[in-house]
Amino acid sequence: MKFSDLGLMPEIQRAVAEQGYDTPTPIQQQAIPAVLAGHDLMATAQTGTGKTAGFTLPILHRLAFGANDRLSRIARTPRVLVLTPTRELAIQVEESVRTYGKHLPVNSLAVFGGVGINPQIANLRRGVDILVATPGRLLDHVQQKNVDLSAIEIFVLDEADRMLDMGFIRDIRKIIALLPKERQNLLFSATFSPDIRELASGLLHKPVSVDVAPRNTAAETVTQKVIECNREQKKDLLKHLFTTRSLHQVLVFARTKHGADALARTLEKAGIKAAAIHGDKSQGARTRVLSEFKDGKLAALVATDIAARGIDIDALPYVINYELPNVPEDYVHRIGRTGRAGMEGEAISLVCHDERGQLKDIERLIKRSLERVEIEGFEPSAVAAPRPPQPPRGPRKPQGGGKSDSQKSGKKGGTPQQHRSGARHH
Ligand code: AMP
Repeated sequence: MKFSDLGLMPEIQRAVAEQGYDTPTPIQQQAIPAVLAGHDLMATAQTGTGKTAGFTLPILHRLAFGANDRLSRIARTPRVLVLTPTRELAIQVEESVRTYGKHLPVNSLAVFGGVGINPQIANLRRGVDILVATPGRLLDHVQQKNVDLSAIEIFVLDEADRMLDMGFIRDIRKIIALLPKERQNLLFSATFSPDIRELASGLLHKPVSVDVAPRNTAAETVTQKVIECNREQKKDLLKHLFTTRSLHQVLVFARTKHGADALARTLEKAGIKAAAIHGDKSQGARTRVLSEFKDGKLAALVATDIAARGIDIDALPYVINYELPNVPEDYVHRIGRTGRAGMEGEAISLVCHDERGQLKDIERLIKRSLERVEIEGFEPSAVAAPRPPQPPRGPRKPQGGGKSDSQKSGKKGGTPQQHRSGARHH
């Protein structure tokens, strides 16, 4: 199947072709016709499957098709609302709208917390067709009467499972209550848990179901390996991997913000260009570090799970789990950052004695055992060294014991910094 078979407007097809895409991904093949036909959608798809274009393209078509009279009005109330869990994802979705809608007279805007509210107010006043928002900041705008949601025709919940994990359910319900009853709803989630099922049953009307990434499986193009080692060898082993394999553009996962900072410093000291990204960094610092990483100026980006959610980079070749996540589902999210859109990727996990239980949980979840490799000079000893005090394992908790990165991001406060004016386009 080609993009030209999907019946999208020529302006949209042109924008897709300019991105160099000619074959829709499986989720796009299934979601685009369903959305074009006006159906509600329940899509189980991870980041990396092409899900963003899967909803952006048909939405742009529905918005622009035969609607020039409405689009040419001076002040517009939003007709499409996309809710995302994080500001990074909001920015990326809005960029996709801009990329694919560049030949159409469609306005889009991303609003999210952690930055000044006034520029967003000014942009909202100028009129927006497609509004992408994090829940907390959107409710701030609603409260201040900066935005009117009564004309929303299409509502998208992106990464709904993450939204629930981050405690956004009440905000989501408040927002849904403000929307017109008659509307099209699209729900995207990496997993289909009982909570998501419940949310979907209240939100969606006779949805078309699309399931492209069967739950808890990773892309087949990702090679997954476990290197067993002693905990105290991990830093040296990581440096060894970087130098012996000339690794570049590696996303390294650490469990805590503090750990991510410390690891980035260790790599830097060893002459490996590295930086950390997590929720305690200002928006400016995060954006800068991300663009350095994307431009290939950094060999390693050390990230926490939540901060990594919004990182969208084509063809990331390596993911290294410096530490395994406590929540096995996070492993699947992490390695989903590589092997995207059919590209080859490798996910390496450094596993010490203490983490064998976590590894077992992960293997149970993904229903396969991971290949073990030993690296000469870093073989694990038979007996584990005494374990330093650890936080208790258990249900998912926000990082750092306080609010999660994204809960913060959705709210007021944080670094008062304006999203570049490009967030809005015409
Ligand atoms: P997403 O799952 O939406 O985060 O998309 C993952 C990546 O795949 C993004 O970098 C897209 O630009 C890219 N992508 C989306 N659609 C296609 C396609 N049909 N062919 C190749 N790459 C695509």
